[in-house]
Amino acid sequence: MDVLIKDGILVTMDKERRILKNFSLAIEDGAIVEIARGIKGEADFVIDARDRIVMPGLINTHTHAAMTLFRGSADDLPLMRWLQEEIWPVEAKLEPKHVYAGSLLACLEMLSSGITCFNDMYYHLEEVARSVLESGIRGVLSYPLLDIAGEEQGKELLRQAERALRAHSGRNPRVRVFLGPHAPYTCSAELLLKAKELAEEHRTGIHIHVSETREEVKNFLEEKGKRPFEYLEEIGFLGKNVLAAHAVHVTKREMGIMKRRGVRVAHNPVSNMKLAAGIAPVAEYVKAGITVSLGTDGAASNNTLDLFQEMKTCALLQKVSTGDASAVPAQTVLEFATIGAARALGLDREIGSLEVGKRGDVILVDLRRPNLKPLSNPVSHLVYAARGCDVCTVVVDGRVVVHEGSFRTLDMAEVCRFAEEEALDLFKKANKAEKLFLGEEAA
Ligand SMILES: [Zn+2]
Repeated sequence: MDVLIKDGILVTMDKERRILKNFSLAIEDGAIVEIARGIKGEADFVIDARDRIVMPGLINTHTHAAMTLFRGSADDLPLMRWLQEEIWPVEAKLEPKHVYAGSLLACLEMLSSGITCFNDMYYHLEEVARSVLESGIRGVLSYPLLDIAGEEQGKELLRQAERALRAHSGRNPRVRVFLGPHAPYTCSAELLLKAKELAEEHRTGIHIHVSETREEVKNFLEEKGKRPFEYLEEIGFLGKNVLAAHAVHVTKREMGIMKRRGVRVAHNPVSNMKLAAGIAPVAEYVKAGITVSLGTDGAASNNTLDLFQEMKTCALLQKVSTGDASAVPAQTVLEFATIGAARALGLDREIGSLEVGKRGDVILVDLRRPNLKPLSNPVSHLVYAARGCDVCTVVVDGRVVVHEGSFRTLDMAEVCRFAEEEALDLFKKANKAEKLFLGEEAA
């Protein structure tokens, strides 16, 4: 066997949600081949899991990875001002190398905090793919589509998206391409339906922002006479392969549509709180049987890519918003970040739980830390007490990417240096170098 993880506490997230004490897990050819006590035999890589939780890698279902370059450059602003004054002017200067540097930094940050798969939406998809392949993470890359500049823009982006779908089909199983129509207010009905057609043809998913802020929904209602999910239903866009990011402002009627069509949700509590977007009705989604997953959104609105923070925030926010301390308990939140997220991406046959036959996407959480003592309840600790930095070892597709805190694929110092250099270059080109503390140093 290739990797043997020995004698840990396995939080499996399988159908029975079993927690197995003093169990081992073997990986061969990238897949989990055995879960048992005291597995015998030779392995190329043996990982001591005593006093560690062994669990499926976390899955971040909504992010814009390269936006790590914007981290901390524009805080404490509402969404539209934040976008129009701070983000778009800098994004207008983005070059492929910036996206590569920012994505590489994001992959490093995500892996180091136990994220083994992420769902991205950003420009220069090939650069994101490159950083996925080099870092060892698993990436679902949604090709961004919009046609606010006119029909030609949409057509050209669709052509490029199709090229990306073909280029990555059957190439490396760690890179998958989705279609990423940005939002119902930036895409025409024609473009949305073409994206749906293309997704069906390539048997892939659709990743779209829906109903993030109250203002956006109000404007949409004024313009189209319908709320976003009602509109998407009417044009025939919705289906089981649609993952809606945010879905914050949704009526009961819209929730019925989402349930009927099998739409999945990527909930981003930290970003929604920071931009004062609102509180998604997650407890109601769960009651309605809608699949919920968790995303960090980009580092410009979070400002970290740490799903442990996201899990805790999600649970707390639902309790405070419903006035019910039992709303969205720890077990449910852990599902959002693992098996629920895999389902949201249509990848639940491959990842999301520790089961024989699934891919070897496994992380270890170090229980020797004071914040995780005494070990009363592993699931509670993972949601309410653990932090991303408590992750010590990360395996993706059977390859040990991080071991006891050290990267085996990337040079952490080099990636950080490269990202700072390119962030400074980008902000200089946008005449906003003063936004970076780093920029002042250089001046
Ligand atoms: Zn987003």
